[in-house]
Amino acid sequence: MTELFAVEDLRVQFSTPRGQLNAVRGITLSVRAGECLGIVGESGSGKTVLWRSAMGLLRGRKVTRTGSARLEGRELLTLTPKEVRQYWGTHIAMVFQDPMTALNPVRRIGSQFVEALIKRKGMHKDAAMARTIELLRLVRMAEPELLVRKYPAQLSGGMRQRVMIAMAIACEPKVLLADEPTTALDVTVQAQVLELLSDLREKLGMAMVIVTHDLGIVAGHTDRIAVLYAGEVVEMASTLDLFANTKMPYTEALLKSIPRLDGTSTDMMEVIDGAPPDPMAETVGCFFAPRCKYATDKCRHEHPELVDDGTGHFYRCFYPLGKQS
Ligand code: SF4
Repeated sequence: MTELFAVEDLRVQFSTPRGQLNAVRGITLSVRAGECLGIVGESGSGKTVLWRSAMGLLRGRKVTRTGSARLEGRELLTLTPKEVRQYWGTHIAMVFQDPMTALNPVRRIGSQFVEALIKRKGMHKDAAMARTIELLRLVRMAEPELLVRKYPAQLSGGMRQRVMIAMAIACEPKVLLADEPTTALDVTVQAQVLELLSDLREKLGMAMVIVTHDLGIVAGHTDRIAVLYAGEVVEMASTLDLFANTKMPYTEALLKSIPRLDGTSTDMMEVIDGAPPDPMAETVGCFFAPRCKYATDKCRHEHPELVDDGTGHFYRCFYPLGKQS
Protein backbone atom coordinates (compact mmCIF):
# COMPACT_ATOMS: atom_id res chain seq x y z
CA MET A 1 0.00 0.00 0.00
CA THR A 2 1.27 3.49 -0.77
CA GLU A 3 1.79 6.10 1.90
CA LEU A 4 -0.98 8.65 1.72
CA PHE A 5 -0.60 10.80 4.80
CA ALA A 6 2.75 11.13 6.59
CA VAL A 7 3.84 13.04 9.67
CA GLU A 8 7.57 13.38 10.28
CA ASP A 9 9.20 14.58 13.49
CA LEU A 10 6.24 16.84 14.20
CA ARG A 11 6.71 19.09 17.22
CA VAL A 12 4.11 21.49 18.53
CA GLN A 13 4.66 24.02 21.31
CA PHE A 14 2.31 26.61 22.76
CA SER A 15 3.51 29.89 24.25
CA THR A 16 1.75 30.46 27.56
CA PRO A 17 2.26 33.03 30.34
CA ARG A 18 4.01 30.24 32.31
CA GLY A 19 6.39 29.38 29.45
CA GLN A 20 6.53 26.89 26.57
CA LEU A 21 4.07 23.98 26.66
CA ASN A 22 5.27 20.89 24.77
CA ALA A 23 2.14 19.29 23.33
CA VAL A 24 3.68 17.10 20.60
CA ARG A 25 7.32 16.04 20.90
CA GLY A 26 8.64 14.67 17.65
CA ILE A 27 6.00 12.30 16.28
CA THR A 28 6.55 10.31 13.10
CA LEU A 29 3.79 8.15 11.66
CA SER A 30 1.98 7.49 8.40
CA VAL A 31 -1.30 6.25 7.02
CA ARG A 32 -1.42 4.18 3.84
CA ALA A 33 -4.14 4.38 1.20
CA GLY A 34 -7.19 2.43 2.37
CA GLU A 35 -5.70 1.79 5.82
CA CYS A 36 -7.30 2.51 9.20
CA LEU A 37 -4.95 3.85 11.86
CA GLY A 38 -6.01 4.23 15.49
CA ILE A 39 -4.38 6.99 17.54
CA VAL A 40 -4.90 6.20 21.21
CA GLY A 41 -4.02 8.14 24.35
CA GLU A 42 -5.33 9.68 27.52
CA SER A 43 -6.44 13.28 27.63
CA GLY A 44 -3.30 15.45 27.36
CA SER A 45 -1.38 12.79 25.38
CA GLY A 46 -1.21 15.12 22.38
CA LYS A 47 -3.50 13.09 20.12
CA THR A 48 -5.85 15.93 19.26
CA VAL A 49 -3.07 18.53 18.91
CA LEU A 50 -1.24 16.05 16.66
CA TRP A 51 -3.96 15.72 14.04
CA ARG A 52 -5.14 19.33 14.29
CA SER A 53 -1.66 20.70 13.71
CA ALA A 54 -0.81 18.08 11.09
CA MET A 55 -3.95 18.96 9.15
CA GLY A 56 -3.09 22.65 9.25
CA LEU A 57 -5.91 23.63 11.60
CA LEU A 58 -3.81 24.70 14.56
CA ARG A 59 -1.92 27.89 13.82
CA GLY A 60 -1.33 31.37 15.18
CA ARG A 61 1.29 33.45 16.94
CA LYS A 62 1.28 31.29 20.05
CA VAL A 63 1.71 28.00 18.21
CA THR A 64 5.11 26.76 17.01
CA ARG A 65 5.04 23.80 14.63
CA THR A 66 8.14 22.14 13.24
CA GLY A 67 8.63 18.99 11.21
CA SER A 68 6.45 17.93 8.36
CA ALA A 69 2.93 16.69 7.58
CA ARG A 70 2.22 15.63 4.00
CA LEU A 71 -0.83 14.42 2.16
CA GLU A 72 0.10 12.69 -1.12
CA GLY A 73 3.46 14.45 -0.91
CA ARG A 74 1.97 17.93 -0.46
CA GLU A 75 3.19 19.75 2.66
CA LEU A 76 0.26 20.73 4.87
CA LEU A 77 2.09 22.82 7.46
CA THR A 78 2.76 25.59 4.95
CA LEU A 79 -0.78 25.79 3.50
CA THR A 80 -2.47 29.18 3.78
CA PRO A 81 -5.78 29.29 5.72
CA LYS A 82 -7.61 29.51 2.37
CA GLU A 83 -5.81 26.43 1.04
CA VAL A 84 -6.60 24.57 4.27
CA ARG A 85 -10.31 25.33 3.77
CA GLN A 86 -10.11 23.99 0.20
CA TYR A 87 -8.41 20.82 1.39
CA TRP A 88 -11.01 20.19 4.04
CA GLY A 89 -13.97 18.24 2.81
CA THR A 90 -12.36 17.35 -0.48
CA HIS A 91 -9.07 15.72 0.57
CA ILE A 92 -9.59 15.31 4.30
CA ALA A 93 -12.89 15.20 6.17
CA MET A 94 -13.73 14.96 9.77
CA VAL A 95 -16.27 13.26 12.03
CA PHE A 96 -16.52 15.02 15.38
CA GLN A 97 -17.42 13.67 18.81
CA ASP A 98 -20.42 15.97 18.98
CA PRO A 99 -22.36 16.13 15.69
CA MET A 100 -24.00 19.36 16.80
CA THR A 101 -20.66 21.15 16.36
CA ALA A 102 -20.87 20.43 12.63
CA LEU A 103 -24.64 20.71 12.08
CA ASN A 104 -26.51 23.99 12.13
CA PRO A 105 -29.40 23.47 14.59
CA VAL A 106 -31.73 25.98 12.90
CA ARG A 107 -31.48 24.62 9.34
CA ARG A 108 -33.06 21.51 7.85
CA ILE A 109 -30.69 18.58 7.19
CA GLY A 110 -31.33 18.69 3.42
CA SER A 111 -30.56 22.36 3.01
CA GLN A 112 -27.26 21.99 4.90
CA PHE A 113 -26.16 19.19 2.55
CA VAL A 114 -27.31 21.00 -0.56
CA GLU A 115 -25.44 24.15 0.36
CA ALA A 116 -22.23 22.20 1.04
CA LEU A 117 -22.50 20.27 -2.25
CA ILE A 118 -23.18 23.41 -4.29
CA LYS A 119 -20.22 25.18 -2.66
CA ARG A 120 -17.70 22.35 -2.76
CA LYS A 121 -18.72 20.39 -5.85
CA GLY A 122 -20.44 23.13 -7.89
CA MET A 123 -23.54 20.93 -8.19
CA HIS A 124 -26.95 22.12 -9.35
CA LYS A 125 -29.56 22.31 -6.56
CA ASP A 126 -31.64 19.32 -7.77
CA ALA A 127 -28.58 17.15 -8.31
CA ALA A 128 -27.30 18.15 -4.87
CA MET A 129 -30.60 17.06 -3.26
CA ALA A 130 -30.52 13.74 -5.15
CA ARG A 131 -26.94 13.19 -3.98
CA THR A 132 -27.95 14.08 -0.41
CA ILE A 133 -30.60 11.35 -0.43
CA GLU A 134 -28.08 8.91 -1.89
CA LEU A 135 -25.55 9.78 0.83
CA LEU A 136 -28.12 9.37 3.61
CA ARG A 137 -29.02 5.98 2.20
CA LEU A 138 -25.32 5.07 2.14
CA VAL A 139 -25.12 5.68 5.90
CA ARG A 140 -28.19 3.46 6.33
CA MET A 141 -30.70 6.15 7.28
CA ALA A 142 -34.30 5.06 6.81
CA GLU A 143 -36.62 7.23 4.68
CA PRO A 144 -33.99 9.78 3.60
CA GLU A 145 -36.63 11.67 1.56
CA LEU A 146 -38.40 12.55 4.82
CA LEU A 147 -35.22 13.03 6.80
CA VAL A 148 -33.97 15.89 4.62
CA ARG A 149 -36.90 17.99 5.89
CA LYS A 150 -36.01 17.51 9.55
CA TYR A 151 -33.91 19.65 11.89
CA PRO A 152 -30.92 18.14 13.74
CA ALA A 153 -32.72 18.34 17.11
CA GLN A 154 -35.45 16.00 15.76
CA LEU A 155 -32.89 13.17 15.43
CA SER A 156 -31.36 10.87 18.05
CA GLY A 157 -27.62 11.12 18.84
CA GLY A 158 -26.85 8.06 16.71
CA MET A 159 -28.84 9.42 13.75
CA ARG A 160 -27.08 12.77 13.98
CA GLN A 161 -23.73 11.00 13.95
CA ARG A 162 -24.77 9.12 10.77
CA VAL A 163 -25.85 12.40 9.16
CA MET A 164 -22.48 13.91 10.00
CA ILE A 165 -20.68 10.89 8.55
CA ALA A 166 -22.74 11.31 5.35
CA MET A 167 -21.72 14.96 5.23
CA ALA A 168 -18.06 14.10 5.80
CA ILE A 169 -17.97 11.64 2.89
CA ALA A 170 -20.00 13.89 0.55
CA CYS A 171 -16.93 15.01 -1.39
CA GLU A 172 -15.23 11.62 -1.32
CA PRO A 173 -12.25 12.57 0.85
CA LYS A 174 -9.05 10.55 0.70
CA VAL A 175 -8.69 10.55 4.49
CA LEU A 176 -11.55 10.45 6.98
CA LEU A 177 -10.57 11.56 10.44
CA ALA A 178 -12.85 10.48 13.27
CA ASP A 179 -12.13 12.22 16.58
CA GLU A 180 -13.71 10.29 19.46
CA PRO A 181 -16.56 9.45 17.07
CA THR A 182 -18.56 7.39 19.54
CA THR A 183 -17.81 8.91 22.95
CA ALA A 184 -21.20 10.62 23.22
CA LEU A 185 -23.15 7.50 22.17
CA ASP A 186 -24.44 4.51 24.11
CA VAL A 187 -22.68 1.17 23.70
CA THR A 188 -25.04 -0.40 21.12
CA VAL A 189 -25.04 2.69 18.93
CA GLN A 190 -21.23 2.95 19.29
CA ALA A 191 -20.83 -0.49 17.74
CA GLN A 192 -23.17 0.39 14.85
CA VAL A 193 -21.34 3.65 14.09
CA LEU A 194 -17.93 1.93 14.12
CA GLU A 195 -19.28 -0.82 11.87
CA LEU A 196 -20.65 1.79 9.49
CA LEU A 197 -17.31 3.66 9.37
CA SER A 198 -15.47 0.42 8.58
CA ASP A 199 -17.94 -0.48 5.81
CA LEU A 200 -17.71 2.97 4.24
CA ARG A 201 -13.93 2.91 4.33
CA GLU A 202 -13.95 -0.36 2.42
CA LYS A 203 -16.65 0.70 -0.01
CA LEU A 204 -15.14 4.10 -0.80
CA GLY A 205 -11.47 3.11 -0.54
CA MET A 206 -10.70 5.91 1.93
CA ALA A 207 -7.98 5.89 4.55
CA MET A 208 -9.24 6.47 8.05
CA VAL A 209 -7.78 7.73 11.31
CA ILE A 210 -9.69 7.07 14.53
CA VAL A 211 -8.52 9.23 17.43
CA THR A 212 -9.70 7.94 20.81
CA HIS A 213 -8.86 7.55 24.49
CA ASP A 214 -10.34 4.03 24.42
CA LEU A 215 -8.19 1.18 23.15
CA GLY A 216 -11.28 -1.04 23.18
CA ILE A 217 -12.97 1.15 20.54
CA VAL A 218 -10.25 0.66 17.94
CA ALA A 219 -9.61 -3.03 18.60
CA GLY A 220 -11.80 -4.47 15.87
CA HIS A 221 -11.76 -1.58 13.42
CA THR A 222 -8.13 -0.61 12.77
CA ASP A 223 -5.21 -2.11 10.87
CA ARG A 224 -2.59 -0.40 13.01
CA ILE A 225 -2.54 1.48 16.29
CA ALA A 226 -0.23 4.23 17.57
CA VAL A 227 -0.29 4.71 21.34
CA LEU A 228 0.61 8.22 22.49
CA TYR A 229 1.86 9.31 25.89
CA ALA A 230 2.93 12.83 26.90
CA GLY A 231 3.23 13.98 23.29
CA GLU A 232 5.22 11.00 22.02
CA VAL A 233 4.47 7.71 20.27
CA VAL A 234 5.29 5.04 22.85
CA GLU A 235 4.09 1.98 20.91
CA MET A 236 2.98 1.44 17.33
CA ALA A 237 2.18 -1.86 15.65
CA SER A 238 -0.43 -3.77 13.69
CA THR A 239 -3.59 -4.05 15.79
CA LEU A 240 -3.19 -7.81 16.09
CA ASP A 241 0.42 -7.57 17.22
CA LEU A 242 -0.24 -4.74 19.63
CA PHE A 243 -2.84 -6.79 21.46
CA ALA A 244 -1.12 -10.17 21.21
CA ASN A 245 2.42 -8.98 21.86
CA THR A 246 2.15 -5.79 23.92
CA LYS A 247 5.55 -4.37 24.73
CA MET A 248 4.91 -1.11 26.59
CA PRO A 249 3.86 -1.12 30.25
CA TYR A 250 1.66 1.90 29.41
CA THR A 251 -0.20 0.00 26.68
CA GLU A 252 -0.59 -2.92 29.08
CA ALA A 253 -2.13 -0.55 31.64
CA LEU A 254 -4.47 0.88 28.98
CA LEU A 255 -5.57 -2.64 28.05
CA LYS A 256 -6.33 -3.42 31.67
CA SER A 257 -8.42 -0.26 31.93
CA ILE A 258 -10.84 -1.39 29.20
CA PRO A 259 -14.19 -2.19 30.84
CA ARG A 260 -15.21 -5.86 30.50
CA LEU A 261 -18.77 -6.64 29.59
CA ASP A 262 -18.62 -10.10 31.20
CA GLY A 263 -17.92 -8.44 34.58
CA THR A 264 -16.04 -11.39 36.08
CA SER A 265 -13.94 -10.52 39.11
CA THR A 266 -10.66 -11.54 37.47
CA ASP A 267 -11.39 -9.20 34.59
CA MET A 268 -11.94 -6.13 36.73
CA MET A 269 -11.02 -2.89 35.05
CA GLU A 270 -7.88 -1.24 36.48
CA VAL A 271 -7.19 2.44 36.86
CA ILE A 272 -3.78 3.83 35.91
CA ASP A 273 -2.57 5.61 39.05
CA GLY A 274 -0.85 8.99 38.79
CA ALA A 275 -0.89 11.55 36.01
CA PRO A 276 1.18 12.26 32.89
CA PRO A 277 4.12 14.69 33.35
CA ASP A 278 3.56 18.44 33.34
CA PRO A 279 3.97 19.47 29.67
CA MET A 280 5.57 22.74 30.85
CA ALA A 281 8.28 21.05 32.92
CA GLU A 282 11.68 19.74 31.74
CA THR A 283 11.29 15.99 32.25
CA VAL A 284 14.24 13.62 32.31
CA GLY A 285 14.04 9.89 31.93
CA CYS A 286 11.06 7.91 30.66
CA PHE A 287 7.93 10.04 30.84
CA PHE A 288 5.94 7.06 32.15
CA ALA A 289 8.44 6.19 34.93
CA PRO A 290 6.49 7.78 37.85
CA ARG A 291 3.50 5.54 37.00
CA CYS A 292 5.34 2.43 35.84
CA LYS A 293 5.60 -0.60 38.11
CA TYR A 294 8.71 -1.80 36.25
CA ALA A 295 10.67 1.50 36.50
CA THR A 296 14.35 1.35 37.47
CA ASP A 297 16.97 4.05 38.10
CA LYS A 298 17.90 3.89 34.43
CA CYS A 299 14.25 4.66 33.50
CA ARG A 300 14.27 7.68 35.81
CA HIS A 301 17.45 9.15 34.31
CA GLU A 302 17.53 8.20 30.63
CA HIS A 303 14.91 8.83 27.99
CA PRO A 304 14.15 5.71 25.88
CA GLU A 305 14.15 6.02 22.08
CA LEU A 306 11.41 4.54 19.90
CA VAL A 307 12.83 1.27 18.54
CA ASP A 308 11.63 -1.30 16.02
CA ASP A 309 11.69 -4.94 17.13
CA GLY A 310 12.48 -5.85 13.52
CA THR A 311 8.90 -6.65 12.52
CA GLY A 312 7.51 -3.10 12.36
CA HIS A 313 6.44 -3.20 16.01
CA PHE A 314 7.79 0.03 17.57
CA TYR A 315 8.11 0.63 21.31
CA ARG A 316 9.75 3.13 23.65
CA CYS A 317 10.88 1.16 26.69
CA PHE A 318 14.16 -0.14 28.16
CA TYR A 319 12.40 -3.24 29.48
CA PRO A 320 9.70 -4.30 27.03
CA LEU A 321 7.13 -6.68 28.50
CA GLY A 322 8.30 -10.23 28.75
CA LYS A 323 11.92 -9.10 28.94
CA GLN A 324 12.08 -7.47 32.39
CA SER A 325 14.86 -8.88 34.56
S1 SF4 B 1 11.38 2.56 30.19
FE1 SF4 B 1 11.14 1.90 32.29
S2 SF4 B 1 9.66 3.33 33.18
FE2 SF4 B 1 9.52 3.53 30.99
S3 SF4 B 1 7.87 2.18 30.42
FE3 SF4 B 1 9.77 1.01 30.22
S4 SF4 B 1 10.05 -0.02 32.18
FE4 SF4 B 1 8.50 1.59 32.49
